Amino acid sequence: MNEPPGAPSRRVGVMGGTFDPIHHGHLVAASEVADRFGLDEVIFVPTGRPWQKADRTVSPAEDRYLMTVIATASNPRFAVSRVDLDRDKSTYTVDTLRDLKSQHPDAELYFITGADALSSILGWQDWQELFELARFVGVSRPGFELGAEHLAEHLARLPKDVLTLVEIPALAISSTECRLRARENRPVWYLVPDGVVQYISKRDLYRRDGEPRPDGH
Ligand code: ATP
Ligand code: MG
Repeated sequence: MNEPPGAPSRRVGVMGGTFDPIHHGHLVAASEVADRFGLDEVIFVPTGRPWQKADRTVSPAEDRYLMTVIATASNPRFAVSRVDLDRDKSTYTVDTLRDLKSQHPDAELYFITGADALSSILGWQDWQELFELARFVGVSRPGFELGAEHLAEHLARLPKDVLTLVEIPALAISSTECRLRARENRPVWYLVPDGVVQYISKRDLYRRDGEPRPDGH
């Protein structure tokens, strides 16, 4: 959507992830960054084929997309984009940002990422271009401290003012732990939104992790 001339540009957060499944750690990160930076909207972008996760079976894209829609539906400032799902190749952040920038040419983009993903920032494809497309916001995550020495070394190599680090309420939740719990029939209630608990059960996700599903996915 193009803004009228002279209107202040919209600030749009971009929260990329595999979301297999989406959990409250993702939602708190997006909500906190939206508040601190006065974002008008946060777009959640489930990855198509995540290149970092080529070594494990990822749930079907449509399941991850629908869980993300369910989890974000009640928040009027949260939206979900299919840009990465509909692209027929591995997901690189630079492609995500290029596509979103062309869909929202007047918006200032804020790419939100957890401390764990930040440490590999220099390994991302075309990282110099990333900073022309968006500002980056690194959020704290339990187990991956923002002040860690190896992270500081990485970040010292970045151009000035392209990245802001933000402490958010610590939620020690990961999708890996949620999948493990679901597989072992232990609860995921309160780690993920209620509708996502129900969706995991309805689709019987994670019970046969690593095995092909009967529907061929
Ligand atoms: P997995 O265990 O499968 O890697 P994950 O919990 O790390 O899943 P992703 O979909 O890989 O979730 O993460 C998407 C983004 O959300 C990443 O930038 C990640 O750092 C961030 N993130 C995930 N969980 C948290 C959390 N609990 N607190 C803060 N940031 C988080
Ligand atoms: Mg992860």
